Amino acid sequence: MDCIFCKIANGEIPATKVYEDDTVVAFNDLEPQAPTHILVIPKAHISSAADVNEENSAVISHIFEVIAKLSKELDMTNGFRVVNNCGEDGGQTVKHIHFHLMSGRKFTWPAG
Ligand code: AMP
Ligand code: ZN
Repeated sequence: MDCIFCKIANGEIPATKVYEDDTVVAFNDLEPQAPTHILVIPKAHISSAADVNEENSAVISHIFEVIAKLSKELDMTNGFRVVNNCGEDGGQTVKHIHFHLMSGRKFTWPAG
């Protein structure tokens, strides 16, 4: 499958990784929208939030454990934002589920 985030997960394409374990990898976004902008992805390909199910959802809860861990390690004491874009209207450009972890500035709401 020609998936850029699968290639980052298996090391075929370089990325600045900030966390990695057996099932999850986190790396800096190429076009940061905040002083800290990390993408957290499962190593296994899941296309989008619409494709999470009973069989594959354990890694999603693990991703949120990783996000909490990174938020402490990277001193996001003032808060942070987690974003998942899903599908065309959601603005998803890479079809491998990913969570944007952003911090270092104040975010507005509602987004976009
Ligand atoms: P989304 O629009 O939610 O699908 O987000 C895709 C994100 O992936 C964007 O913020 C891009 O800047 C980022 N991105 C695309 N290619 C790469 C790459 N090779 N390394 C790091 N980030 C990337
Ligand atoms: Zn993939």
